[in-house]
Amino acid sequence: MGQLLTAGDGPVARCRLCGRPAAGPCARCQAPVCGDCCVLTDGGATTFAVCHACEGRGGATLAPGWRGTLAWLALLVVGLAALAAALALLR
Ligand SMILES: [Zn+2]
Ligand SMILES: [Zn+2]
Repeated sequence: MGQLLTAGDGPVARCRLCGRPAAGPCARCQAPVCGDCCVLTDGGATTFAVCHACEGRGGATLAPGWRGTLAWLALLVVGLAALAAALALLR
């Protein structure tokens, strides 16, 4: 950590949406956002802040990878089916 207190106008992280000093990073896109430009989600034990841009894109949930997981499962099923077909042909 560097200095905790900076005199004057240091390189303060600005909100990506409105330009005001940011309160923290968005949990999904990591962009700095202020308290007015984010929504708090209930991610189980921890509360996450998600910016309005991400909220509009995918809802205020912390599930950015479920589509990828679904695609991966589909790929697995297709692969197994192909394997089964190949074994049936060899028989
Ligand atoms: Zn803002
Ligand atoms: Zn975001």
